[in-house]
Parts: sequence; C-alpha cells; structure tokens
Amino acid sequence: MMRIAQSMAELIGQTPLLRLGRIAPHFDGELLAKLELWNPSGSEKDRVAQAMLAAAEADGTLRPGTVIIEATSGNIAFSLAMLAVPRGYHLVLVMPEAVPPWRVQLLRAMGAEVVMTPTSLGMAGAQAHATALTQSYPSVFRPEQFSNPLNPAAHERIAHELWEACEGRLAAVVVGVGTGGTVTGVGRHLKALSGGAVRVVAVEPAASPVLTGGEAGVHRLLGMGPPFIPATYDATVVDEVIAISDGSCHDTLLRLYRTEGLLSGPTGGAAIAAALQLAARPDFAGQRLVAIIPDSMERYTAMGFWRDEPLLMPTVSE
Ligand code: PMP
Repeated sequence: MMRIAQSMAELIGQTPLLRLGRIAPHFDGELLAKLELWNPSGSEKDRVAQAMLAAAEADGTLRPGTVIIEATSGNIAFSLAMLAVPRGYHLVLVMPEAVPPWRVQLLRAMGAEVVMTPTSLGMAGAQAHATALTQSYPSVFRPEQFSNPLNPAAHERIAHELWEACEGRLAAVVVGVGTGGTVTGVGRHLKALSGGAVRVVAVEPAASPVLTGGEAGVHRLLGMGPPFIPATYDATVVDEVIAISDGSCHDTLLRLYRTEGLLSGPTGGAAIAAALQLAARPDFAGQRLVAIIPDSMERYTAMGFWRDEPLLMPTVSE
C-alpha cells in the first residue's frame, strides 16, 4: 500500500535491490546492485546526514539558531541542504572554487550558504576555512563526516536491508571507499549477521592506492579515494581491497548503461568493475555478489570524470 510520507527524511533508506542479469552473461551466480541513488536527494549520504543531524538535535548540540558548517563539495552537501534547511537551520558549505557553477547554484537555490576557497589548497584548505568560520557564530555544529562515528553507523541499515532481501544468502559485498563509512558500517554489520561469512571488499582508485599503503595520486573516481585514510574507515572489517583504474571504471559504466540502463555514478562503476573481477573467480561461481551504487552520473555533469573532460581538482576526495 502506498503511504503518504510526512517529510523527505521519511523517504530515506529501503532502497531497491536490482539483479544485473545482462552485464555479466557468463557469470552463473547473481550480481546485485543496491540502488542507494534512490535516496531522496540522490545519494546514500542522506542516511549519514540524517543520522548526524538527529543525534546532534537529540544531545542538544544542534538547536534553533545553531549554524551547521561542513567542508564538502560532494553528495553530503545536497543531503544536508535537503534535511537541514527545511528544519530552519542556517547551513554553510565550504568548498574549493573549482566546483562547477551548477552545483553551487543548486545548493544556494536549496538555501545553503556556499563559501569558496582557493582550489590550490584542495579540501584541506576548505577544512581549515570551515574551522576558522566557527569563530564567527555563537553556536556551531560541524557534522564532520570524515571523523564522525555516526557516518559508518548510519550505513548499518544497508546491511540489514541487504540481509533481509537476500534471505541470508550473500557471498560478498563490494563498496567504493571515500570516507570509508559505507564499507565500515555495511561490512561490520554483514559480518555480524552472517557470522563472518560475507566477504567485504573495498575499492580504491588504482592511481591513488592509499588504503594498501601506496602513494596518493591524481584520479578521476570522484567521490572516492581521498589522499589519506579517514578515521571512519575500519580496515579490520575489510577482507580485500581491489584497485580500479579510471579507464576500467569508464568502460564498466558504459557497459552498465548499455546492458542494464542503470545510470550509476563513478564510484558505483568502480564497485561493479571490482564485482565483475570477483565474478570471474572460481570461488564465487554460483554465488551472490552485491555492489553498492551510491549515486547517479547526473551529479557529475562538468565535474571532469570522463576522459575528454579537464580534471577539475588535482586531488579529488569529497
Ligand atoms: N560514492 C560517492 C558518490 C560518494 O560521494 C562517496 C562519499 N565520498 C562514496 C562513494 C564513498 O562512500 P563513503 O564515504 O561511505 O566511503
């Protein structure tokens, strides 16, 4: 029965699970995609923003008049704008000025204040400016998704949703890593639900293999691969890290669009590329694999993802 939702927040989660039956015709198991792009602002970050705001309201850190400040150019900006502005909060987003004008315009249209920092200073510069800005307001709440433990915790729900839909039959979950919140929350809970049986696979950019001890480098897998290991990434829940190149992600996405019609963004493409590698291994024959699709490619217009576009920010993270 269709129900009438009372707020956008109520529409977060319970995202669809899609069987990708065409992209890997030779795989005799099942490749599934968890469609987090179905969340109301268009990404899985809605879960994180909702959890962080609700907890801050509950413990009194966030109350009428408190200003919310976050350094981000990524999906959490849209999630925070969707949830915080209608609740009456002033939201300040700090981001490098290389962010395409449409993103800035849209976030301003949603009621957020957008403050720009020099692109040459990267996300670290945006972070430093956000910290400096806290002095300008009497009451400030900083969600800080790269260190807030509610980020991974918010993703535990995904594990429950997957486990329920799969009725306990799931061999591996594949997740692109940005803050690491998704892989940590989903992985930890799937391990708990399965008695450790589900294999947890993290995906990182081949050109910036920081999770496996390599050097940070320039890559186009927007939304993942920050140049450091975030506090919200728990390596102990990860069984394996697979590195995916920009080119492999591009190629996989074109196959995904043309075989399945699923308009995943870059990080979902990287997760599918890694899942296809698992599908080719004998130990996953006949098994069920799931890749997380965090958002849609429409959010990457003029962002420098495709090979023929100029790369906007030299080190891309959130
Ligand atoms: N995909 C996209 C599109 C993202 O914006 C992010 C967040 N940076 C991720 C994947 C990675 O998720 P997480 O931050 O939970 O590691």
